[in-house]
Amino acid sequence: MIELEAVSKLYRTGPIKVHALSAVDLTIDEGDFVAIMGPSGSGKSTMMNVLGCLDVPTSGKYMLNGIDVSKLRENRLAEIRNRQIGFVFQSFNLIARTSAARNVELPLIYAGVGRRSRRARARAALERVGLGDRQNHMPNELSGGQQQRVAIARALVTDPAMILADEPTGNLDSASTVEIMRLLVELNETGRTVVLITHENEVAGFAKRVIELRDGKIVRDVSNGVGSGVG
Ligand code: ADP
Ligand code: ADP
Repeated sequence: MIELEAVSKLYRTGPIKVHALSAVDLTIDEGDFVAIMGPSGSGKSTMMNVLGCLDVPTSGKYMLNGIDVSKLRENRLAEIRNRQIGFVFQSFNLIARTSAARNVELPLIYAGVGRRSRRARARAALERVGLGDRQNHMPNELSGGQQQRVAIARALVTDPAMILADEPTGNLDSASTVEIMRLLVELNETGRTVVLITHENEVAGFAKRVIELRDGKIVRDVSNGVGSGVG
């Protein structure tokens, strides 16, 4: 479903050029659970931005479900983000003073879904993440782990092809981290593709496949404990 072909991202700051991604080839199949790791500055955020259609590569091709998204304009990219990708962030990004249910409904408002259907789908998504009894709670009335569950429900509610999670456990204690990772594993096991960015080995251990970036290149791609060094 995801195919990167010689994808590069070049940043120019005055006379300095940085290849944040350098001719990356990567295939992620439907139903996979991939953790992207690497030290600070290795290109993880750039990879997240490209995979999430938040940014386009300088060169190369990005095929997402048969569409070459590397050359699309912002309005088409926004459409693809809304329909195909569920985002989960380190800082939850929930709207304050807005109930869990209303937060989860938000992507459906953008998608033009009617009010009754929105309500029902938000309720079901919150039930799916174990928060059926927290529909009307405000974010500040929920624990960090619960807030991240709301964010995951919001990511699920449009039924996206892929969940893209950027350091989803970065603000959580270890108990909530395990809880959130188990939820992502469960969502993956019921058919969703998950791509996770993390710098924590314990978190990456929940994935089926671990990719390591260094200086904008994939230097390791390990599947089910069987390693294959690249470059
Ligand atoms: P990571 O998320 O692994 O820390 P990034 O993708 O943020 O890595 O950065 C990769 C490289 O690209 C770094 O050298 C960084 O300084 C550079 N970089 C990232 N974003 C920009 C930008 N907007 N302008 C210039 N350089 C950037
Ligand atoms: P299973 O694979 O175990 O059947 P599902 O994830 O398909 O679990 O669904 C479990 C519940 O969550 C169902 O009630 C379903 O309606 C609801 N649900 C699943 N995905 C979504 C979604 N994207 N939006 C709203 N509700 C959902």
